[in-house]
Amino acid sequence: MSVTHRIVVVGAGQAGLQLCETLRRSGHTGPLVLVGDEPHLPYQRPPLSKKFLTGELDAVRLALRPAEQLAKLDVALKLGTAVLAIHRDAHEVALADGERLGYDRLVLATGTRVRRLPAPGAALDGVCHLRGLDDAQAIRDRLGAARRLVVIGGGFIGLEVAAVARGLGKDVTIVEAQNRLMPRVVAPLVSEHYARVHAGHGVHIHLNTQVEGIVRAGEALAVALDDGASLPADLVVVGIGVVPNVELAREAGLHCENGIVVDEYAQSSDPAVLAIGDVAWHRNVLLGTSHRLESVQHAVDQAKNAAATLLGKPVPYAPVPWFWSDQYDLKLQMAGINRGHDSVVLRGTPDSGAFSVCYYEGTRLLAMDSINQPLDHMLARKLLAAGVTVPPTAAADPEFELKTLLPAG
Ligand SMILES: Cc1cc2nc3c(=O)[nH]c(=O)nc-3n(C[C@H](O)[C@H](O)[C@H](O)COP(=O)(O)OP(=O)(O)OC[C@H]3O[C@@H](n4cnc5c(N)ncnc54)[C@H](O)[C@@H]3O)c2cc1C
Repeated sequence: MSVTHRIVVVGAGQAGLQLCETLRRSGHTGPLVLVGDEPHLPYQRPPLSKKFLTGELDAVRLALRPAEQLAKLDVALKLGTAVLAIHRDAHEVALADGERLGYDRLVLATGTRVRRLPAPGAALDGVCHLRGLDDAQAIRDRLGAARRLVVIGGGFIGLEVAAVARGLGKDVTIVEAQNRLMPRVVAPLVSEHYARVHAGHGVHIHLNTQVEGIVRAGEALAVALDDGASLPADLVVVGIGVVPNVELAREAGLHCENGIVVDEYAQSSDPAVLAIGDVAWHRNVLLGTSHRLESVQHAVDQAKNAAATLLGKPVPYAPVPWFWSDQYDLKLQMAGINRGHDSVVLRGTPDSGAFSVCYYEGTRLLAMDSINQPLDHMLARKLLAAGVTVPPTAAADPEFELKTLLPAG
């Protein structure tokens, strides 16, 4: 691979921009084109369910880089234009505006889109989903006048929106289909802690409950639940997960599962095409598994990994995954992947408001969730990266200093 190759990146989000920056910083001198279907300069999504909704951050401050800095990167930015097809034989992509762009290497960083509520009334005015800046702006515009908010889905995004809305004094109800909050990602005792905190802030929580439909009821909306209840709402926010934008890749014949399948070098089933970020079903050699991750850390790290591949200096992908969620004054920080755990060890006491939960497979530490325990989180990342396990008895003792287990140097 040459530093003068023409590289086209599809998706001007966290991963796409990071890739362009890393390539330039690492000496790539060839043409770089970044194509995005949104009209905005690349921006950060995490604040969309946090400080952007409260009004503490405005849209300009969401930009990942100011326009002047982007200009210095010498990247041809094509915003507000979707890529409609990949012609692999011709090494070209077709844009919605009719243009065709040739590439030597193509990188797909198309992210995900929201899963729409599969119930009648999901398209009614006042029922919002949240993925992009325009979605967040629509919610923010409505939140001011809304008195009653119903959040459908008790995952990270729904819970963050609920916390913001309670902070603004709204009457908030969460409806979750499973029997606990954040069911896919955290242990029951973390779910229970978050349920207690939300309830303590006055949020009404319906677990084990499905939404049957939403109807307009005069000025307001009514959310019909499968237990027969009907919840009045001025605003409904749906946060029931996302689906990866794999269609371009699939239609071009690339191997896709729940994401575009790539190896530990971000390479797809076509060596001229790479995929990174939320859309990539990728291999992590540290964990020895393949999966898809939706996190800023992964988007940034895998973009750097793909840049190394493109520059002819491939390095197997091996970071410790980490993630965070902010709700009220709770900072949840997660290190590692807890999939496959068979036991859980509590470190500290939830009543104190600061504790960690360690996930084990046998005696091997797989992951740690830390709630208002940033030191535990930082050390967990280092220990997992070094392949050092924490004996469960040591983990259970909050006085035990995790840093003593770190390899010297
Ligand atoms: C509300 C919200 C809160 C979040 N909070 C956190 C958090 O607290 N911590 C955390 O780690 N992560 C968080 N995330 C996740 C994080 O933002 C994502 O993991 C990250 O943005 C992924 O980057 P990406 O570049 O892969 O995808 P994206 O940032 O989604 O970028 C993909 C871009 O590609 C564009 N695109 C798609 N198809 C095409 C096409 N055919 N042609 C052109 N362009 C196309 C999309 O419109 C989009 O602009 C949050 C996400 C959301 C939505």
